[in-house]
Amino acid sequence: MKFTSTRGHGGVVTGKEAIVQGLAPDGGLFMPEVIPQVDWRALPSWEDYPQLAAEILHLYLTDYSREELLAITRSGYEKFEPGVFELEVLDDTAILELFHGPTLAFKDFALALLSRLIAAGKGPETIRILTATSGDTGKAALAGFQDVPGMDIFVFYPTDGVSSMQKLQMQTQEGENVHVYGVRGNFDDAQGGVKAIFANEEIRRKLAEEHIHLSSANSINIGRLLPQLVYYFAAYLKMVDRGIIESGEVVDVSVPTGNFGDILAGYLAKEMGLPLGHFTCASNENDVLTKFFETGHYSANRPLVKTTSPSMDILVSSNLERFLHLVAEDKASTGQYMRELTETGEFTVDELPADMTGAMVTQGEVEETIGAVYEKFGYVLDPHTAVAYLAAQRAQESGRKKLVLATASPYKFPEAVARGLGLEVAGEEPMALLEAISRAWGREVPPALSELMEKPRRHTEVIAPEEMKGVIQ
Ligand SMILES: *Cc1c(COP(=O)(O)O)cnc(C)c1O
Repeated sequence: MKFTSTRGHGGVVTGKEAIVQGLAPDGGLFMPEVIPQVDWRALPSWEDYPQLAAEILHLYLTDYSREELLAITRSGYEKFEPGVFELEVLDDTAILELFHGPTLAFKDFALALLSRLIAAGKGPETIRILTATSGDTGKAALAGFQDVPGMDIFVFYPTDGVSSMQKLQMQTQEGENVHVYGVRGNFDDAQGGVKAIFANEEIRRKLAEEHIHLSSANSINIGRLLPQLVYYFAAYLKMVDRGIIESGEVVDVSVPTGNFGDILAGYLAKEMGLPLGHFTCASNENDVLTKFFETGHYSANRPLVKTTSPSMDILVSSNLERFLHLVAEDKASTGQYMRELTETGEFTVDELPADMTGAMVTQGEVEETIGAVYEKFGYVLDPHTAVAYLAAQRAQESGRKKLVLATASPYKFPEAVARGLGLEVAGEEPMALLEAISRAWGREVPPALSELMEKPRRHTEVIAPEEMKGVIQ
């Protein structure tokens, strides 16, 4: 399997090359040349998740051996809870819990593998990872790259744009090769700073003289996207095994969406042959994508709203480029749309597939949904998952079972969750909030969070976006 750029001028590269480079030389994103078809009935069991993951990854990453991939998935998923993922059934909706990894967010699924995939593909140079984060990517990337030989990592988060738990997770990160900075501004400012560094020839040349090569852990890297295919297959196989659906029954999907990586992985799984039906692309008040799927017009020319689902507070959704490329009749159009986006902040497409629609859910509705689902099922949703859950219930009635991706543990967003549950907690003590949620839910506070309270805050520096290029050199 070879990979080419969405913009058509990035050459033809292998999987290893695509993963080590991160971004294609023409500024586009790498995509597989063809989407492989798979007989999902013949896949390894969902119960051996690393085996299933290696098998699916090998359909794309053919220049890694099966054994190499299996070693990567086995060690990558070692730090997850034993089941790796869970399914919780609420009437006709199955909640796919993707928050049983080391940092309690679905981003662990890809970031636990990415450092290992890069290590197996790179030469003797040092790889310096630069990452802008709206919260969860940062911590998951730090955990994935901590003390990996031959690599170091710089994470930039908007200092007022992440939850208290997310900030604490990043500030207490251990490791000799990790660097964490708060950036004054919002996520797009932090992301813009990283993009400017990647585009700066002089910085790249100076680093190259020291044998340092820049790469990215953001979801523009194809090594982020591919591991996310796996849990769609695993969830479907488990739903069949548990008798939630018949073998071959079509399931609708709803995904809380920001950079469009997670939902794109599901869409690819469908293209590979998994019986998935309609996709709901769920947004918070930053509903650029909802408008796009309604009208074909994408516009990032609007203020960013800070919400209680910060990992979706994004106006420029980078993986949409891959989707446009995938569904376009004329592949050359993607580069044109992206040029228009850079120059004017907007673009319009003529036609979009009918099997994906958008839906917007407000912060007020998020808290109501958290409360209502708890009342009815005794189950606690995080704010991102609540967006997707309500969007799924509102999607046009198809009579099919629904799969909702639960992207983060509710304990990572305790303020909004406590309000949704109507919990009265005295004081500002974060642990008290977590314990109150735990008493309501009957699930223990994850040790990965309770342990943070004891750890020193090692990274507290806050910088301006212009200072980012200085600190990485
Ligand atoms: C990153 C993230 C999202 C959005 O995922 P994308 O792949 O960027 O669309 C949703 N929820 C949570 C909790 C996240 O961390």
